[in-house]
Amino acid sequence: MDDDELQKLHVVFFPFMAYGHMIPTLDIARLFAARGVKTTIITTPVSLPIVTQAIEKAIKHGSPAIYTEIFSFPSAENGLPDGCETVNQAIKYYMIPKFMQAVEMLNTPLEQYLEKTRPHCLVSDMFLPWTTDCAAKFNVPRLVFHGTSYFALCAEEIVRVYKPYKNVSNDEETFILPSLPHEVKMTKSQFSEDFMKEELNESKKEFELIKESEIKSYGVIVNSFYELERDYADFFSKELGRRAWHIGPVSLCNRSIEDKAKRGILEASKDEHECLKWLNSKKTNSVIYICFGSMAQINASQMLEIAMGLEASQHDFIWVVKNDRQSEEELLPQGFEQRMEGKGLIIRGWVPQLLLLEHEAIGALLTHCGWNSILEGISTGLPMVTWPACTEQFYNEKLVTEILKIGVPVGAKKWNVVPYNVDYLVRRNAIEKAIREVMEGDEAQERRNRAMKLKEMALKAVEVDGSSYNDLGVLINELRHNKLKVV
Ligand code: UDP
Repeated sequence: MDDDELQKLHVVFFPFMAYGHMIPTLDIARLFAARGVKTTIITTPVSLPIVTQAIEKAIKHGSPAIYTEIFSFPSAENGLPDGCETVNQAIKYYMIPKFMQAVEMLNTPLEQYLEKTRPHCLVSDMFLPWTTDCAAKFNVPRLVFHGTSYFALCAEEIVRVYKPYKNVSNDEETFILPSLPHEVKMTKSQFSEDFMKEELNESKKEFELIKESEIKSYGVIVNSFYELERDYADFFSKELGRRAWHIGPVSLCNRSIEDKAKRGILEASKDEHECLKWLNSKKTNSVIYICFGSMAQINASQMLEIAMGLEASQHDFIWVVKNDRQSEEELLPQGFEQRMEGKGLIIRGWVPQLLLLEHEAIGALLTHCGWNSILEGISTGLPMVTWPACTEQFYNEKLVTEILKIGVPVGAKKWNVVPYNVDYLVRRNAIEKAIREVMEGDEAQERRNRAMKLKEMALKAVEVDGSSYNDLGVLINELRHNKLKVV
């Protein structure tokens, strides 16, 4: 490392080990590096190739160096299988609590690293709440990255503070989230049972820890842009008193075809050229893209309903399937793939989502309402069918369908960690209806027009002098200023 690098502002990124968190964090690190900040990413051996690949790609496209710091991951000490170092793996083994224990043990290497390196800022994931205290020991400000919308952050806090669900008598009765800029109604069934319980259980404790650490932190980095949810960006700072910087959509830093094709994970399961060739044969806006994020596995009965709903809708589709526990024949109705030949492409495994979404043949996105996917859909001007299942996805659905008005809900009503909760299904008729509503008719066109306007705003936000570009500049300047004060 030369003298120049030693003089620079040094920001360290510590992503949570889940693809949906690592992918945007890598993009954020690239954005900082591109603004002349010395940038280091903490990772573990299993995720290192993903990180290295992203860095090499970034450098190839003109980014300055990004450094890595590798913490060995205590899988064996916590009874996890060898190499189980991401949530995406842990969920398959039904071992999330053990995984979280192992993650927490990374506080020791983190403290050693911070003591030795003394960076000027630590940007760490919301699921690493203990990092606030580790950083504080060495006077390093910690910024939190949640990976979700301003809207979800605000709604979540309002629910936490006011507990409006206490006023209803059953799981389906709606309650209003008080004091938000819009009237937002939810039901208890859209929250986890643990969260709705009176007593303080493990998951409520974890949630409180996350919130406390957010309040104690230096601030929050949000992957969003001001024009998308200005009411909630303002509410978050003015009403909830958080310091926050919006710097997204961060996925837009992937500009070249290679960047988009190789984002996030090592190997796409189908050759991207094959997918693009298939899409090239389709009419503009004629294909619906269906994906439930990086890890959701769908149970066999739900797969059947999706397949039948898709077939009945008569629209062309790309359906990304992540299941790997059951055999495929068991999951799809007999003869479905043969019947759908030419009409639908089923892809098992990983797809280059960014590249596919921006293809002109893709006309809509059916999403589980993970924030990355929603924002990627917005950045490519797509209307959506929303199908939330868990975490903050029900909030994101509200933003997309009721506030931005670019989505149609499929009608998922119950918190449902697929595939564990097999007693809850969204039926084929509802799926067909929502797909038709988002793909056909005048209202669909209006929705698409609104989505296209948001896309234009998103692109502007990250250009020089755009709102996100500027807010990142404000944050970096502030950190530089702090650095000078400390020296
Ligand atoms: N993704 C992808 N290919 C896939 C599945 C997902 O590139 O086959 C990316 C997607 O573009 C997004 C991220 O993985 O950036 C998933 O994040 P999201 O917040 O949508 O959902 P999560 O996986 O966290 O539930």
